[in-house]
Amino acid sequence: MNDASKPTKIKFEYEDDDDETIEQVATGSSNLDEDSTMCEPADADKTSADYYFDSYSHFGIHEEMLKDVVRTKTYQNVIYKNTFLFKDKIVLDVGAGTGILSLFCAKAGAKHVYAVECSQMADMAKEIVKANGYSNVITVLKGKIEELELPVPQVDIIISEWMGYFLLYENMLDTVLYARDKWLVNNGIVLPDNASLYLTAIEDAEYKEDKIEFWNNVYGFDMSCIRKQSIMEPLVDTVDQNQIVTNCQLLKTMDISKMTSGDASFTAPFKLVAERDDYIHALVAYFDVAFTVCHKMTGFSTGPKTRNTHWKQTVLYLEDVLTICEGESVVGSMTVSQNKKNPRDVDITLKYSLNGQRCVISRTQQYKMR
Ligand code: SAH
Repeated sequence: MNDASKPTKIKFEYEDDDDETIEQVATGSSNLDEDSTMCEPADADKTSADYYFDSYSHFGIHEEMLKDVVRTKTYQNVIYKNTFLFKDKIVLDVGAGTGILSLFCAKAGAKHVYAVECSQMADMAKEIVKANGYSNVITVLKGKIEELELPVPQVDIIISEWMGYFLLYENMLDTVLYARDKWLVNNGIVLPDNASLYLTAIEDAEYKEDKIEFWNNVYGFDMSCIRKQSIMEPLVDTVDQNQIVTNCQLLKTMDISKMTSGDASFTAPFKLVAERDDYIHALVAYFDVAFTVCHKMTGFSTGPKTRNTHWKQTVLYLEDVLTICEGESVVGSMTVSQNKKNPRDVDITLKYSLNGQRCVISRTQQYKMR
C-alpha cells in the first residue's frame, strides 16, 4: 500500500484546456464511510442504511469528490468538448449533489436540466444554481429518483456519477437504470455509458502482515477470530504499480445504456499470468468508465497504473501466500452479487488455483464489502 497522493500516468484524457481550472488535486482519500448511505429518512428510526444518505448531506464528501480532478475534469471535458450532444437537449442529472454536473450541462447549452438529489445537499444545489444565474435552466428536485415525478415525460440525456468502491458498492447503478427505463427517450444517451471491472495480483507482504496477521498475536494474545473477519473485508487503498506481479485481466464490461439490474451480478473467469518470480498476497480489483458517444472517446481509470482517484483500488487478501514463477498463472473465477439483506453491500466469491513449480494451491474465499 502506498502514498495515495502520488500521481502516475493517466490512461485516458481528462486534461483541461480552458480557463476554468480546478486548483486542487485529489489526495486519494475515500468518499464514503463504511456504513454510510444516501438519503435522509423521514423518521427518527434510522437503520445503518439510512446513514448512507446522511453522509451525502454534509459538504465534506462533496468536497472530496469535487477535488478528485480525474473524476470531475473528465465529466467537465465530456460536456464542454461535446456541446453538440447537449445543445437544446433535456438532461436529467441523477444524484446531483452540489449540482456540478448540471451546471456543466447548462453551460454547454442544454435546454433544461433536472437535477435530482435526495440528501440535504439539494438545498445547497438550489442556492448554487441561483447564485450562478442558472435558475431558468436548472430545476433542482429534492427527493429520491424512485419516489418523485419529473415535470416532463421524457429526457434526452441522463448523466450521473453513480460509481462506488469496487464499482458496485452502494448500488446506485440501480437508480440510474430505473431513471433510464422510466424517462429516457428512445435513442437517448446515458453518460457514462460504459464501465469495466479489472483484476490483477500483487505482492503485499508488509501490509498483509499489518492488517491481517496482526490479529494472530496481539500483545501475546490470540485474536485470530478477528483475523477471519478482517480477511473477509476488501480493503480500499492505493496500490503501487511496482507491487503488480501479473497482467491485468478484464472481468466484466457493462453497457449502462442497455444492461439490466441483474447484469450487475455475475461470475467471471480470470487467468492472471505472472510477469516475474514473486509472491502474491492479494488480488486487486479496479474499474474504468468511458463515455463512448463523445466525438473522441473519453473516460478514466481507477487502476494502480494511473493517477489516483478517491476510489483508490480494492484489495482482496488471500489466505495463503502464493509463490509464483514467471509465466505461471493463477486461474479462477470471481462471483459478484448484491447482498440479500442489504442490497447496497456486495458479496464476492473468489475461486482460484495455482498449479506451479513451487506452490500448488486451490481455494475458495468469501468477501463482503460493507
Ligand atoms: N453528481 C454529484 C454527486 C455525485 S455522488 C457530483 O458529481 O459531484 C451521488 C449523489 O447521488 C449523492 O449526492 C447522493 O445523495 C445522490 N443519490 C444517491 N441515490 C439517490 C437516489 N436514489 N435519488 C436521488 N439522489 C440519489
